[in-house]
Formats: sequence, structure tokens, C-alpha cells
Amino acid sequence: MLRSFAATGALALLVACGQPAPQGSAPAQEALSESAIDDRPVLSIYSTRTYESDTVLYARFEEENGVRIDVRESGAPELLDALKAEGADSPADVLLIADAGALYQFQQAGFTQPVRSDALEKAIPEPLREPDGNWFGLAKRARVVVYDPQLLPLEEVDTYADLADDRLKGELCVRSGTHIYNLSLLSELISRIGSDAAEAWASGAASNFARAPEGGDTAQIEAVAAGKCAVALVNHYYWVRLATGTTEERLTAAKTLVSFPDQDGAGTHINITGAAVASTADAPDLALRFIEFLATPEGQGLLTSETREYPVVAGAPMPEGLELLADFKPSDFPLSDLGANLAEAQAIYDRAGWN
Ligand code: FE
Repeated sequence: MLRSFAATGALALLVACGQPAPQGSAPAQEALSESAIDDRPVLSIYSTRTYESDTVLYARFEEENGVRIDVRESGAPELLDALKAEGADSPADVLLIADAGALYQFQQAGFTQPVRSDALEKAIPEPLREPDGNWFGLAKRARVVVYDPQLLPLEEVDTYADLADDRLKGELCVRSGTHIYNLSLLSELISRIGSDAAEAWASGAASNFARAPEGGDTAQIEAVAAGKCAVALVNHYYWVRLATGTTEERLTAAKTLVSFPDQDGAGTHINITGAAVASTADAPDLALRFIEFLATPEGQGLLTSETREYPVVAGAPMPEGLELLADFKPSDFPLSDLGANLAEAQAIYDRAGWN
């Protein structure tokens, strides 16, 4: 929702209480009254991200466009609930959401709107955006295998199918099958290899678990480094953050290697952080301008520097640490097709005991 905002609250209170002006300072008084009224248009962003670097990103856009950005950060399920509760009155202008599966859920619930943008269509590869312009992928992540090279050779962990092989009995660490990262991967596998083979894969992998799924992706890498399992399934950036982190984190990453599955086949499962113009946006043009900024080399740099996702736009700067990973072949599966299989993927994980 686009609205003007008068930042008068605290100042009005000061004045009403008869607070003395700051000591002998006409210029200070002037500065105060100038900042008293903030009538910049407001762009309201609902984001599943929680990164320091996003405050820099927002500040850059505010500065360049004379707007004020309001951010609401929360998990995707919580943001979905908020949008449902707010209905047409929601202030949301832009949805900034990790994972195409999650974006599908926002689209299905009617919280996105289709927009056209020559700049975005030119800059972003087709498989990474929704064909009608309901959302645009802006940063890429790969779902990779992290393994202990003392225990396993690369050849035994270079496909997703390997994770379901009997050889890895008791050696696999994963997060919950209710998490969107695992649901999106299985959604792609359902399309690639069919429901029956995908179900056989999920139950084979579940029978290889070293422990019941627990924790996030970082916890799985730590478990491999600690010898609790030989192999884990994680998004690449969690490994990169450890590999470029504190001394202790670097030591953890150094005990493991990253394998990009299916290089001789369909390529490694890719997902995105993407953005949508919210269906409740009062000024879709401004919302779209923000998304277009994210697809410039500058916006891409700000969006990925801390997350260590891959930029999707040619000419964008590479985040620190990605040079530690091999070049790899990504799957070219159209991400807008993931959503159709999410419910089936959940049912398969539930039957497989991947929870
Ligand atoms: Fe993540």
C-alpha cells in the first residue's frame, strides 16, 4: 500500500511536553523541523530474509528513489497468514521470498499479480521466472551433497540417486521433509523420474538416515564434520558461509567436500530467492522498479553478498566464497512447475518417514 507517513510522533511529543531546544543551536533546530515531516511514498516489503545486508540494499533504493521502505520479516508460513488476515487492506507492495515452492504458495493464494518488464525478461533466464510475471527469480541456490571424503569417494555421492543406495545405510543426515527446500527438490524429481521412482528414492533415502531429521542445513554439515554421518543434503550457501566464517566454522567446512549431483544427467537442483509484486500493491510501478533494481549488477551484489547465493544476472559481482565451489551444470527445470507437485511431495515424504 502506498501511503505518506508523517514522522511526527516522537517530535510532536517533545514539543507538546515543552522540552527545551537543544543547547544554543539554531541549525540543529532547523534540521529537526526539516526531518519532522517524512512525506516520502512508502514501499512495504514482506520478506522471508533476515540479513544485515538487506538494510544496505533498502537504503540504496530509498536514496535513489526518494521513497521510504517498510520491511516485515518473517517465515513464509507466517507471512502467508498475515496476508490472509489483512486481506485487501494489506500494506504489502513487494514479496521477497526464498524458494520457488514458497512463491508458488503465495501465487496460489492470490497474493501476487502478473507484471510485464522488458528489463527483467531480458536479465533473468526463463526457467527462473514465472511465465506470466507473477514472480521473478533473483538469486540462485543449488541443493548439493556435502560428504566426508575420508569415508566416501566422490563417485559414490555424485547423484541424488546415490543418497537412496544401500551403501549409505545409516550415513545420511537431512533436515525435515516438511521443509520447502526438500519439498521443492522432490517436486522436481517427481517431474523428472515419475511418482513411483520418486517415492522409491525418498523411502530409500529415509532408510539410510543416520538419525531422525533435525535442525537446519548448517546442522547437517556440522554433523558430517563431527562424524555423525558421512553425507548430507544441503543448500550450497550454508557450506560457503562456514567455509568463509570463523576459524571454527572454517575447520568444520574443511572436513567436508561439496558434490553437485547429477552432472552427467539433468544437472543439480536449483532454486531461487524471488520477488513478486503483491496483489495489494497500490503502486505496482514502484514495486516493479524495486524488483528491477534487484536485477541490476548493483542490486544483485547487495542481494547476494551476505547470503552467498549465486547472482542470476550477467555481469553481477560474485559473493565471496563461491570461488571455493566447482563450476557446475544446473538443472534447467522450469521453477514455476515445482508448485504443482508440492502436495504429492509432502505425501511421499510422510509415507517414507522423512520427518
Ligand atoms: Fe536458507
